Amino acid sequence: MSQELTGAEEQAVKAYGWAARDSSGVLSPFHFTRRGNGDNDISMKILYCGICHSDLHLAKDEVGMTIYPIVPGHEIVGEVTKVGRNVTKFKVGDIAGVGCMVGSCRSCDNCTQDLENYCPKMVWTYNKHHEDGSRTFGGYSDKIVVDEHFVVQIPKNLPLQGTAPMLCAGITVYSPMRYFGLMEPGKHLGVVGLGGLGHMAVKFAKAVGAKVTVISTSPNKKKEAVEQLGVDEFLISHDQEQLQAAMGTMDGIIDTVSAAHPLLHLVGLLKTNGKLILVGAPIQPPELPVFPLILGRKLVAGSATGGMKETQEMIDFAAKHNITADVEVIPMDYVNTALERVAKTDVKYRFVIDVANTIKSPY
Ligand code: NAP
Ligand code: ZN
Ligand code: ZN
Repeated sequence: MSQELTGAEEQAVKAYGWAARDSSGVLSPFHFTRRGNGDNDISMKILYCGICHSDLHLAKDEVGMTIYPIVPGHEIVGEVTKVGRNVTKFKVGDIAGVGCMVGSCRSCDNCTQDLENYCPKMVWTYNKHHEDGSRTFGGYSDKIVVDEHFVVQIPKNLPLQGTAPMLCAGITVYSPMRYFGLMEPGKHLGVVGLGGLGHMAVKFAKAVGAKVTVISTSPNKKKEAVEQLGVDEFLISHDQEQLQAAMGTMDGIIDTVSAAHPLLHLVGLLKTNGKLILVGAPIQPPELPVFPLILGRKLVAGSATGGMKETQEMIDFAAKHNITADVEVIPMDYVNTALERVAKTDVKYRFVIDVANTIKSPY
């Protein structure tokens, strides 16, 4: 006689994705298993997944912490295909989003303050282990199983392709801009690096009526930044004259740059009490002279993604203001070329993989 399985007893499911096997970072098809759908889990058919620069850092083991094989991807939008018996937020057929994390202890000081992203036991969406010791694999794959606490609801008016990147790029800039009071009307925000994260910072800041200056290495991004994104000023980071003219004018700066770069002139751009927030993750430690900080009571801080409550708030804010990422949608088998182009900053401003239509999953 057949018996109903509880979630915990459910069979692991076969899954199919694209993985890097070594520090070449080259991805190729990969068969693996995901856990069965537990009582608190939802299963999702992955529709779209954004390509974050962190995927590149990790696929190539630039940080020295990659566990191969690695299936990257933490900007995931999908359709709910299964819900566990305790699930309350989702039903089959809903559209849902998964970002950078899929687990945390749920009881530490960080977790109880909706800061799961700073939980010492936080489980990244890929390149980590679940509590049971099994590996996590990301969104460059056909399906995913996640505790509903780590899944956000996607409002109906948001186009899905442009929504996927907000699950990492969006929340990573939204959270510090909120926390440090930089997403306010009349504030002058500097955004360093006009890539995936940077262009989301511009969109959020413009939505609340802040003044935005982009500090970029790419003169060819200026026209579109001003005309399409509404950037107020666009400074070229090696143009000393332009920088000099802007010294002491900014309330805060979000630095999204993925490679080592000087910080001194950025500190100089801040007003007294100004805040330089580092979200980009270059491998080399930055050079940071102290005197310019002292002489102006300036603050330098870091920030990592955001908690689940704030991620939902960010998505709802985006829906209210019709904000999505500007994306180039690509098929799964273009992923290696896309990663090469990310390395060369040759994308405006985010690649999104059309997973469902192009991954050709055998399962
Ligand atoms: P991205 O799309 O590649 O954008 C990075 C931008 O930085 C580029 O578009 C470019 O902008 C600028 N840049 C690149 N190389 C540079 C160099 N050598 N010198 C100066 N500027 C340079 O990357 P992303 O996905 O936005 O991610 C940016 C960084 O944030 C990555 O390091 C990523 O790992 C990190 N990240 C951190 C978190 C977090 O939680 N803190 C979350 C997600 C990502 P211009 O052409 O305008 O100069
Ligand atoms: Zn990311
Ligand atoms: Zn915790």
